[in-house]
Amino acid sequence: MHQRLVNLRALLHEHTLDGLLVTAPANRRYLSGFTGSSGALLISADAAWIITDFRYRQRAQQEAPLFRLREISTEMPYLKTLATLIDELGIRTVGFEAQHLTVAAHTRYSEYFAEELKDSAPQLQATTDLIETLRTSKDSDELAILCQAVRLTDAALARVLPHLRPEMTERQAAWLLEVAMREAGAEGVAFPVVVAAGLNAALAHAVAGDAPLGIGQPIIIDMGAKLHGYHADLTRTLVFGAADETFWNVYNAVLNAQQAALAGIQPGMAATDADALARNVIEAAGYGEQFGHGLGHGVGLDIHEAPHIGRSSEDTVQTGSVFTVEPGIYIEGWGGVRIEDLVYLHADGIETLSAAPEAPVILI
Ligand code: ZN
Ligand code: ZN
Repeated sequence: MHQRLVNLRALLHEHTLDGLLVTAPANRRYLSGFTGSSGALLISADAAWIITDFRYRQRAQQEAPLFRLREISTEMPYLKTLATLIDELGIRTVGFEAQHLTVAAHTRYSEYFAEELKDSAPQLQATTDLIETLRTSKDSDELAILCQAVRLTDAALARVLPHLRPEMTERQAAWLLEVAMREAGAEGVAFPVVVAAGLNAALAHAVAGDAPLGIGQPIIIDMGAKLHGYHADLTRTLVFGAADETFWNVYNAVLNAQQAALAGIQPGMAATDADALARNVIEAAGYGEQFGHGLGHGVGLDIHEAPHIGRSSEDTVQTGSVFTVEPGIYIEGWGGVRIEDLVYLHADGIETLSAAPEAPVILI
């Protein structure tokens, strides 16, 4: 935690900000450890404050030991507390998270500061991706939690597979997977479990419905456990009974594309080039038009975070990042195949965190 604050302060200095107001929940948690649902951080070069109310007093003290607590009350509501702190710390330029603070809140803040602090009202400076950029490089604590979330996810899938039946609905299968993740120790699901069978598997963002899993058709399962605020993300494609020729062509194209990306991605590579490693294989197999999404996304305190790995991304993939590699082919009127793994990027290439077998699972 201490190092995260050190890194942030270097960015504040770089952006000539006296302080930063942090209100996005994942960023707040990343910098302080505080898991409460309400509160803000105010960080300057030599001070770190957490502002919250009495419901979270104990939690803030326990979870965020590097922060001093300023409790809001009826006499000292949030904006007054914030203005007082800004004044006490002598902050003249305060950054805010433009992707999170609403326009309405911004208006309220500036009006209140101008009225309350008059000439010493701070200048509000929009920032984007300051903490998000820090979050792309996972430290050892984060990596350990992510690996644990991946293990829970793998274990849940392995446990449920033998219990799936063709007559079971997508939704029933999704529930079994969710229960298995919770029983394995997950605090929740990273996102609603996707089970998409047959024609539904052609929808890249399918939702589990009441269609049966069926025989001889692709079934995409996309699932992830959530643990200590961190997410896992795993996709496997299965089939009951004999698969048709299209299935094998499509499956092999997706698998080869994923393997090309896993073998070829190196630190410092442009995300577009990383995406192309897989996309070229799928295009060569004749399915370029059917791979309509990016190759992957960063995963951490958010299920989708930087780096974004796709054709129009401006990101680069860096050592220490955790992201998904998830090529897919979706054919309207037939179905689809996606294979997704969570990986960690070392200085010398990718380590796949998931241990779930990549071969298509043929159920009988
Ligand atoms: Zn996924
Ligand atoms: Zn994903």
